[in-house]
Amino acid sequence: MSNLDDLYREIILDHYRSPRNRGQLATPPAHRVEGFNPLCGDEITIDLLVDDGVLVDLKLSGQGCSISQASSSLMSVAVKGKSRDDVRHAIASFKEMMLRHESALSDDESKNQVARLRELGEIAALQGVVKFPVRIKCATLAWNTLAQGLDELAL
Ligand code: ZN
Repeated sequence: MSNLDDLYREIILDHYRSPRNRGQLATPPAHRVEGFNPLCGDEITIDLLVDDGVLVDLKLSGQGCSISQASSSLMSVAVKGKSRDDVRHAIASFKEMMLRHESALSDDESKNQVARLRELGEIAALQGVVKFPVRIKCATLAWNTLAQGLDELAL
């Protein structure tokens, strides 16, 4: 697993140093939603532009720790240009990953876990966060805030 851990660390550092989709969109037409993680002080603002059930664009601003920043950047890449169903699916998959500890999985579940991580792509880099429960809220902030925005848009 150590090579995979190295790869995951690289992905997180890359997204932390060069965050994707930073900035703001004009509101309206974009919808602005804000999130805050009081445990760590992470803040995020997401501007969502939705057209005909598709998240055509999003921009992120705010500040926080490396995990929250990397997670929001990875999220933005994963959901940009995706349909409502795909975005909701990505949110659910991410949150499921944050709830699961590898040590608690059977062999069959481990195989499923590998398949699921492949499906998640780069987002899987954040799976190591589950080993540090205090950081889970940092990693999930962007995703919960996105879900809140979708709810507000009734998407
Ligand atoms: Zn944090």
